[in-house]
Amino acid sequence: MSRNVSDSLGIGESADVLLQTPLSRRAKVWKYYDPDLVEVDNVPKVVCKYCSMKLACKYGTSSLRNHIGESCPKIDDDFRNRFLATIKKKPSDVGFVFDPQISRQLMIKYCIHAKVAFRKFEDPYFEEWMDSMQPTFKVIQRHTVRNDCVDTYEQMKDQLRIEFESLDSRVCLTSDMWTSVQELGYMCVTAHYIDGNFNLKKKVISFKKVKYPHTSAAVEETLCKCLNE
Ligand SMILES: [Zn+2]
Repeated sequence: MSRNVSDSLGIGESADVLLQTPLSRRAKVWKYYDPDLVEVDNVPKVVCKYCSMKLACKYGTSSLRNHIGESCPKIDDDFRNRFLATIKKKPSDVGFVFDPQISRQLMIKYCIHAKVAFRKFEDPYFEEWMDSMQPTFKVIQRHTVRNDCVDTYEQMKDQLRIEFESLDSRVCLTSDMWTSVQELGYMCVTAHYIDGNFNLKKKVISFKKVKYPHTSAAVEETLCKCLNE
């Protein structure tokens, strides 16, 4: 089947698959419709279980929801209200207030976790994408993203310092030597400890360049620097 037909369905599955097999459809509204589609004038349609009306679902499931929630002639008010209650938004979605500061923090969190290069934030399509969701959100430039990431790093380091200060348990250290593609040596120091809730924790507390040659004295110097810090 051609690409156009599956595109016209707008639900990302080929019409062949849609017509032949029961679907794993996630939207709750699907259970009010027959699992098999019918083809009317070469257009796959969804059949209402109650009134047998055939509906196209070209742009997602909103037409299917509207039919059950508003216009299906075979559905009584009680049934309709129960259906409408199931598709209501969660309380947390109601009264949502956009907070640019929170969005910015979450964006930085994502950037660090997904290892997104700072320059990607200056991609014109990124700004366009953000604009389409929240035009009042100002996309920050790469230097600001970098500064925000460093600030976040410093804050987390402070938190970790406070955690270590208040710790009753001992801390064990392990270290690993790494060599970069430029043949530079780095030492990674990991602290292992048990926190107040008896959870075993593991934190990388240092990732520093070790001066060449990597003698035991050089390793010791880097480790002491890390512990003093
Ligand atoms: Zn109906």
